[in-house]
Formats: sequence, structure tokens, C-alpha cells
Amino acid sequence: MNAETRSCKQCQQPYVIEAEDFGFYEKMGVPAPVLCPICRSKRRDQLRNETTLYSRTCAVCKKSVVSMYHPKSPYTVYCDKCWESDQWDRFSYAQDYDPKRPFFEQLGELLVRVPKKATYISGLTAANINSEYTNVAGGNKNCYLVFNSGYLEDVSYSRGLRYCRDSLDLYYANNSERSYEGVNIQQSNGVAFGQNVSGSLDSSFVMNVSGIQNCFGCVNLRNKTYHFLNEPLSKEEYEKKTGAIRGSYSRTQEFWKQFKEFSLKFPRRENTNLKTVNSNGDFLVECKNVQHCFEQTSCEDCKYSAYNKSLKASYDTTGYGYDSELLLECVGVGYSSRVIGSYWVEGQSQNVEYSFAIRGGENMFGCDGFKKAKYCILNKQYSEVDYKKIRAQIVAELQSKQLYGLAMSPEIAPFAYNETIAQDNFPLTKEQALKEGFRWQDDIQITKGKETMKSEQIPDHIRDVKDSIVNEVLGCISCGRNYKLIPAELQFYRKMILPVPRQCFYCRHQARLARRGPLTLYDRKCDHCQKDIKTNFAPGRPEIVYCESCYQKEVI
Ligand SMILES: [Zn+2]
Ligand SMILES: [Zn+2]
Ligand SMILES: [Zn+2]
Ligand SMILES: [Zn+2]
Repeated sequence: MNAETRSCKQCQQPYVIEAEDFGFYEKMGVPAPVLCPICRSKRRDQLRNETTLYSRTCAVCKKSVVSMYHPKSPYTVYCDKCWESDQWDRFSYAQDYDPKRPFFEQLGELLVRVPKKATYISGLTAANINSEYTNVAGGNKNCYLVFNSGYLEDVSYSRGLRYCRDSLDLYYANNSERSYEGVNIQQSNGVAFGQNVSGSLDSSFVMNVSGIQNCFGCVNLRNKTYHFLNEPLSKEEYEKKTGAIRGSYSRTQEFWKQFKEFSLKFPRRENTNLKTVNSNGDFLVECKNVQHCFEQTSCEDCKYSAYNKSLKASYDTTGYGYDSELLLECVGVGYSSRVIGSYWVEGQSQNVEYSFAIRGGENMFGCDGFKKAKYCILNKQYSEVDYKKIRAQIVAELQSKQLYGLAMSPEIAPFAYNETIAQDNFPLTKEQALKEGFRWQDDIQITKGKETMKSEQIPDHIRDVKDSIVNEVLGCISCGRNYKLIPAELQFYRKMILPVPRQCFYCRHQARLARRGPLTLYDRKCDHCQKDIKTNFAPGRPEIVYCESCYQKEVI
């Protein structure tokens, strides 16, 4: 088949289905989608609540738990231990498929009835130790508010990290230590306010740099030491200049503003990809034939996906991966093959469709909460023959409504749009979200107006901040939300000579997402050679964007 341009059923924008896409959909046994890639992403991402956490009580043991399910939502929440146990019978929730009623309506009823695990913490990956306030995370120790991360120690307020230690406020980082307020930090130590930094040491306000040490306010440098605003300085001068800024909130803010202006004078690379072949997207590492993907490592033949590792031949998949293939419209699916429209499937599952929290499942359709099961529909056990018959009926129903091959319908998603990463990646107002068929949560647990210390009362310099600040309730200068400092955080600021932040974690996280840029590719021309490029710098933005080869000539 040839490429085809269609009009999205949701937003009416044109989108292209390429010739090879038809091949993939055929292999998956689904029709080509009637929604454009962005509308598909929103629908899928609404199934992934990472950061909106609530306090709840386990319905079995009554222990208080951190949960991603709103206390007023109809879902029954179990703590990890109770949910993982075999004390409750998944089959006792079995429902018959009623061909006279929409399948998604019936699936929605099942999802409400089956108990939910409080957070998305996989029982299959390494356990978290002393890291209660984390989600979509495993193998972490002494961590607080970390999301979509693994194998961290003493890290807080971060997302998308692996193998990092002793760091705060990072977005997308690997193998780094003692770092702070960074986006895309790789194999670095002691980097604060950095973006796209690799193999660097003890530097602050640096962007698109590698192999640097003791640099401050620098852009596009390679293998340099003691530079300030891209100029070399003696060690003494450098220490004097940086010493006048470090640790002071007002001077740090002022310098950050100055640095942002300064950085606009330098060209940026079209993307930050490393060792990729025939691929486009951003934050890709060692990928091959990957298109429109973001934050993916070691993936092959994937499209319209984000946050996966070692995923093959999959489309429209948000997060996880790990030796999976043939995933379509999945969220948090790993170690599995041929999974469609499902959330949190793992443990060598196969042929799972429209299911939730499945491990080691084979031939499952519309099921929730299973470990090791076969031929089940709406949690009811069937023979292989009956399974195939009923599955065919449901598929026919979904196909007739042009829903087969899309993510679960938004009205049955257990989360509201603004509780999930959909709001981070494709922000909508409440009115827009409702108009597009998503739910909205007005009552997210936020405390305001309880501050015991006003932001003006926080000493400007970290050296003047007293230990007692950890007992104070602070108020975010941007959104008014109350927040506190944890003791380890205060020690970190002192050690790194950093001022106390005046914004809450959520506003800091949003600011890092803005620095990362959208998970969208735009067609632009290289600002040097005019070649066509695909980049997440939207046309009309103030940055100078170069194609890979022009950038390399300029920088090295
Ligand atoms: Zn659309
Ligand atoms: Zn419990
Ligand atoms: Zn805030
Ligand atoms: Zn160029």
C-alpha cells in the first residue's frame, strides 16, 4: 500500500500513514488508526499517572499508603503486599461479555470492581528501599518524589533517571552524581543547572557541553576547564567570579536569566540523539529505524513511542519495553509480546489486549489484575475455542466503531487527564480536556496558605539558612502550594553551595519539562545550510538550530 493522508477523527488535522505503517498494522491484525499521532498519544498517556499521589488506606490491612488513585475515585486500593498476595481471587470478579452493550463500558465496570495496586511499582523489578513517595520506579534507595526511574540512591524530585546518586531535581539523567537542576545529564558529577551535559565535572549553568570541568555559564564547549561565559579565566579569577554567585538565591536567578540570553547566541543541534541510525526524535540513544520517538534507548523499528528501553517493532507505546516486541497503544508494558491497548503488562505475557495489570498472561482480553492465566475475557476463564469465538465478537464490535487498535477509551481510564503525563506532554485547559472526551480532576490534594515561613524570610544565601528551616512550611512563589525541605536536601544545598528553591517540586518539574521541549517533531530548515530537519524546536522559536553536520563543524 502507498502512503495515505487522512483527517483525524478527533482534531480533524491531516496525518500521514506511511506505506510501512500499513504493514505493521496488518501484522498486528488491526486497521490503520483513525486518530492522528498526537490525539493517540493524549489518549494513551491519560493512563499514566506518575506524579499525582494521594494518601489512602489499604482496603485489606488498613495500612496507610501512597496511591495514584484519587480517594474519591471508585477504585479499591490495596497496598503492595496485599495486592501481590494470593489472598484474593482474580476470577471472583469474572463478568460475561454482553454483546448488546459496548465492550468498553463493560471493561470500565470490571476496572472499577477489581482492586488496584496503590502505585505502579513493579513487583518484578528490584524493590524500593526507604522510598515511599515514588511511582513507576524500582530498585531505588532513600529516594523521595522520583518517577519513572530506577537504581537511584539518595535522589529526590526527579524523573527519568537511571543509576544516579546524591542528586536533586533532574530530568532524564544516567550514571550521574551530585547533580542538580539538570535536563539530560549523562555520566557527569557535580553539574548544576545543566542541559545536555555529558562526561563533565563540577560545572554550573552549562549547555550542550562534554568533557568540561570547572566551567560556569558555558555553551557548546568540549574538553575545557576554568571557563566563564565561554572565556578562559585563571583559577583564582574563576573562583572569585563564581563564588560571588553560588549559594545566593537572587544572584543565581539573575545569572540564570543572563545565561539563558547568552545561550541564544549559540547554535543548537537539531536533536540530542547519540549513536542512532535512520532515526528521528529526541533523547534517543543507540536506536535504529526509530521514528517520532523520545527518550528511548536501544530500540529498533519503533514509531510514536517514548520512555522505552530495548523495545522492538512497536508503535504508540509509552514507557518500559525491555525485550518486548509488537506492542501497540501500550502504557508501561515490558517483557512481553503482541500486546494491544493495555496498561502495565509484564512477565513474558503474550497476546494480551485491552487489559490492566497482567503478569505472565497469554491470550487475555479485557482482564485486570492477573498473574499467570490463559484464555480469559473480562476475568472469566474460557476454553481456547470459546475464547477465540468471544474475542472475535468483541473485535468485530470494536472494529465497527473504529476503536480496535486504539488505546482504551478515555472515559474508563482510572485517572483524569490532569493527573497524568498527558497533561505534561500535551497540556490542555479543563474545558479543552472535557471537550476532547477526557476526565478532569478539580480536587488534586494541594495544601495552600499554611506556610510558617514566607519566601522573603528565607535567607538569600544558603550559609545563612538555619537547620530549623526543615521544620517550616514554605509557600511556592509561583503556585502558592506548600512544600517542605527534607533534611538530606538541606545538607545537599549546603554541600553544593546552592540556594533554597522558592518554588515547589511541581513547578520546578514543569520548568524542566519546558526546558526539555515538547515531545513533538517539527519540520524546520537548518539555520546554516537550509537543509530540511526534524526537531522539537518549533519554527519561530528564538533558538538558532543547526543540522547535525553544520553543528559538528561549528562546535568541534
Ligand atoms: Zn488528532
Ligand atoms: Zn494492605
Ligand atoms: Zn508551585
Ligand atoms: Zn546544516
